[in-house]
Amino acid sequence: MAPGTCSHIDAITTVNAAKHRKCDECVKIGSRWVHLRVCQECGAIGCCDDSPNRHATAHARASTHPVIASAEPGERWLYCYPDDAFAEY
Ligand SMILES: [Zn+2]
Ligand SMILES: [Zn+2]
Ligand SMILES: [Zn+2]
Repeated sequence: MAPGTCSHIDAITTVNAAKHRKCDECVKIGSRWVHLRVCQECGAIGCCDDSPNRHATAHARASTHPVIASAEPGERWLYCYPDDAFAEY
């Protein structure tokens, strides 16, 4: 973990992995997504900002959960919304 990025990312010792490979909110409304992100606070899975509904960002705003991780295979990074901080792990 790169030090000094933001306190939220620094506080993460174990990255919350995606429990499944779909955006629950998109499934509910019958929509599609591009990439998946995992909330590091509660494990909620949402779709990325390239997806039409941007559920990961919507979740972060609604819940004030700051950090997401990519749920895409081979991608190992974290992003903090309030600090606009990005870190690979
Ligand atoms: Zn932060
Ligand atoms: Zn979605
Ligand atoms: Zn959350």
